[in-house]
Amino acid sequence: MKIATTTAIKEQKRQLVLGHIYHHRHSSRQELGQALPISLPTITQNLNELEETGLIRRSGFLDSNGGRRAQVYSFAADARVAVGVEILGGSIALQAYDLYGKRIAGRTHMIPYDNGDEYYEAVSRHVNDFTACLGVDGSRILGVGFAVQGIVSPDGSHLTFGKILGNTGLTLDRLSERIDHPCRLIHDSHASAIAELWLNANITNATCVYLDEHVGCAVISGGRIDEGENLRNGTCEHMTLVIDGAECYCGQRGCMDAYTSRKALLAETGRDGLSDFFTHAHGGDPVCARRLDEYLTYLAYAIKNMRTVLSSDIILGGRIAYLMSDDDFAVLRDKTAAIASFPDDRFDIIRGACSQGQNIFGAALSYIKPFLDQEIGAYSRQ
Ligand SMILES: [Zn+2]
Repeated sequence: MKIATTTAIKEQKRQLVLGHIYHHRHSSRQELGQALPISLPTITQNLNELEETGLIRRSGFLDSNGGRRAQVYSFAADARVAVGVEILGGSIALQAYDLYGKRIAGRTHMIPYDNGDEYYEAVSRHVNDFTACLGVDGSRILGVGFAVQGIVSPDGSHLTFGKILGNTGLTLDRLSERIDHPCRLIHDSHASAIAELWLNANITNATCVYLDEHVGCAVISGGRIDEGENLRNGTCEHMTLVIDGAECYCGQRGCMDAYTSRKALLAETGRDGLSDFFTHAHGGDPVCARRLDEYLTYLAYAIKNMRTVLSSDIILGGRIAYLMSDDDFAVLRDKTAAIASFPDDRFDIIRGACSQGQNIFGAALSYIKPFLDQEIGAYSRQ
């Protein structure tokens, strides 16, 4: 028992030292001694051990007013890297990130999705080529996260629902058997929400709604993604908005996706791209302006329904939310307030990070975040 306690204290001190260097990017023995409740000999011992593991490295000396100049230690951001891969109908995109979440490389291949061996061989080849070009030893690659438009089984072994690309039942083994690194499948909207949390540490509870080619949602509860037992929490895109309404790709009718996807927004407007559509809608084009207003009405009803189950803030992300103006957000808030069952409800509809490739980043973070949690513990989140 005493040994376990001693080990835990030793581990905590190591996490404190590394956490301080991680957050300040670099530090010296003296600075660490002033900032942390740890003796200088113990700090020295930890610095030596951390240097041996490659997580920190010596990087010059501090300026000094006489006397010995202090050695500076920097966090080795590239001590580990993680890769995110997005699989879409017409392309795959690969991005690599360091331990600060900085993108260090990326590429896209235009290959049409096909649920066959040839396709998976091509994906594996692209992933292996990409990781080989990163210039880091394979042992430093934490893993490859595949952001997929589908729902993953609780054990992560296969897709339980993949109707967008027609790959329900696809196994992780089939995708990863020729890849040289650990791999995992992750529902793309859950990946985007992981990135949302990384980019905004103030989020505690929220329902995230990603408005893109298709709609995807995720629930954040207590500062974590709450996927639920069968990893299907927050699949609001298939809530019924209109009984016997428009066809949804899930096989049912009237789902939220059928009214709030990219295709639904552009329908019958004659516009073939979102930027073009929003330019016209904001410029006063009556057809596009009316369509946008209808779209925001459906979105308001969807948000009202979400709020009856989880009464947290709503974070809107994806390309459509990125292009919506502040006025559009104000209209959406008004429409939602007008149909509220509880008019005293206080909540906000917030624009999310809306960063490009957010799901790819999140898929890579699914490896980076646990690694940092392990190495610097509670200090991984400032
Ligand atoms: Zn549906």
